[in-house]
Amino acid sequence: MPAKNQERRRLKDKELENIKKDLLERKRQLWDEISDDIDEDVREEHHGLIQMAKDGGDRGLAELRESTIFSLIELKVEEIETIEDALQRIEVGKYGRCRDCSRWIRPARLQVRPYAVRCRSCQEKQEKIERI
Ligand SMILES: [Zn+2]
Repeated sequence: MPAKNQERRRLKDKELENIKKDLLERKRQLWDEISDDIDEDVREEHHGLIQMAKDGGDRGLAELRESTIFSLIELKVEEIETIEDALQRIEVGKYGRCRDCSRWIRPARLQVRPYAVRCRSCQEKQEKIERI
């Protein structure tokens, strides 16, 4: 019999709440790091853009992607987009469901990889395809 934390099941409200809190916290931290990464002059110049991306979700992020400072902060912006995507899935109730097989992803997996969009077996299949 599989151990309890191996079960596929819906996250409890409390678990989902904690994951959401962690995601928001991580997002805030990334924005702080982005501010630190950009020197003051450039920050001043792009202040409006960064503020819009910070407040405005997808549209702001899209504009930030177009800008010249993007390459400096690319990895962090991409992580923020991944977080936005996870938060969006929480909002619409899709969080924790595998994108491919629609079964629940094990909560133990989500605790370690809160951005996971697939269960482990589908993820492994996907990685095999990508390697070909
Ligand atoms: Zn799956």
